[in-house]
Amino acid sequence: MTAKWFIDASYFAVAVVFILGLKAMSSPVTARRGIVWAGLAMIAATLVTFATPGMQNFGLMIVAIASGGALAWWSGKVVKMTDMPQMVAIYNGMGGGAAAAIAALEFARGEVHGTVVTTLAVLGALIGSVAFSGSCVAFAKLQGIMKSAWRLPAQNAVNILLALAVVGLGGVIVAAGEVKGELIVAFFVLALVLGVILTSPIGGADMPVVISLLNAFTGLAVGFEGYVLGNPALIVAGIVVGASGTLLTQLMAKAMNRPISNVLFTPISGAAAGGGEAIEGSMREFSALDAASVMRYASKVIIVPGYGMAVAGAQHKVWEMAQLLEEGGVEVVFAIHPVAGRMPGHMNVLLAEAGVPYDKIFDLEEINAEFPQADVALVIGANDVVNPVARTDKSSPIYGMPILNVDMAHNVIVVKRGKGAGYSGIENALFYKDNCRMLYGSAQQAIAEVITHVKALES
Ligand code: NDP
Repeated sequence: MTAKWFIDASYFAVAVVFILGLKAMSSPVTARRGIVWAGLAMIAATLVTFATPGMQNFGLMIVAIASGGALAWWSGKVVKMTDMPQMVAIYNGMGGGAAAAIAALEFARGEVHGTVVTTLAVLGALIGSVAFSGSCVAFAKLQGIMKSAWRLPAQNAVNILLALAVVGLGGVIVAAGEVKGELIVAFFVLALVLGVILTSPIGGADMPVVISLLNAFTGLAVGFEGYVLGNPALIVAGIVVGASGTLLTQLMAKAMNRPISNVLFTPISGAAAGGGEAIEGSMREFSALDAASVMRYASKVIIVPGYGMAVAGAQHKVWEMAQLLEEGGVEVVFAIHPVAGRMPGHMNVLLAEAGVPYDKIFDLEEINAEFPQADVALVIGANDVVNPVARTDKSSPIYGMPILNVDMAHNVIVVKRGKGAGYSGIENALFYKDNCRMLYGSAQQAIAEVITHVKALES
């Protein structure tokens, strides 16, 4: 009795800490603390589960937790920031797979009774299986193991038929009341195939949105299986992940101006997107010395980082340059687009890693009105998120996507290696504007040269 009381109270406390941790993650200032809290709560929930009456196989559990924990610790340490989306994908897939495995085991043990519990077990198994196989495909694509998006003829019809077949089988399992082995196997196989078929046609640019959606699926599956097991910590953790994953998916889709239905059913992929009006004019080159002079004698510089800064790992150099300019009396701030880079918060994480104070980093809504007053907008490896065709060209695939209005600054300097397009694969009208100059080079090297010249101007 005491044990039951203790376990329930502990799960309640764990649930409260999960929610507080999530709340803390909403600001960069407290995010690290939030992650630590949520991690400690997860450890506490795991330890408390060991005390559950009737728990067996402690040895196996310890081996599984130790090996999984060690692998996660090691991979978390060595993963490159640019490879983070695929790591999230595969870990998320493991969560979905675990939820589906719980359901499979409970069915096999004959522990699933009653219409409500069976329905939730079936739903958790279905959603968890789709999240598992879909996340594996997402991982393979982002890791470059699976080369491109492939579509079946009549893809959407195949999706619908397969989904109906799995849901129908699930309905039969619930209606039958007793569990038949072949039925369950067919159900899991079809659900896994559905995850693969749904994710395979989706192109790389949309993949982080899909990962976020699959993450929400995993949360739901875990929540359902928590109900089946009667485990409140799993229910709360699952619901929190499901709700936050759903919100994140909506925010990302909105920031890219791509309805989720479009992401799933009418995918575009990179250069294949095409579209948009032809852009006339030519790009004008700038030297590192010119860039250094314009910025050193400016009053206000707004720096806009993008995917190229992440690839080049240039964030430390960028912050070094910003500090030098500030020492010379220039006001320097950073503007971050919600989908700059390849995952939500990508730029915030990089700038925080380089030591940029949070009060110098502004979101799109906060900073956009300030570009007309800026002497220089310095775009470092960003492309789509500063493309003004999103405001003007209705035929463009990115039309309607909110962008950072860098073209409204007095001078725009763009650091990139050459004429490479952004992720959407379209031309950028910004680069052809009269107030825009191109500083060609890999971001780290180009900014290092600018630093040398700023220092020379000071002496
Ligand atoms: P983009 O992908 O639009 O552009 C990146 C630019 O960086 C390229 O044009 C490339 O040009 C340049 N670049 C590449 N390597 C380097 C380097 N070493 N040094 C300097 N420049 C380099 O990036 P954005 O951040 O502007 O936009 C993000 C895109 O990703 C958007 O289309 C967004 O919708 C999409 N996306 C983002 C998600 C997110 O959550 N953040 C999720 C899903 C999609 P060049 O080759 O000439 O150097």
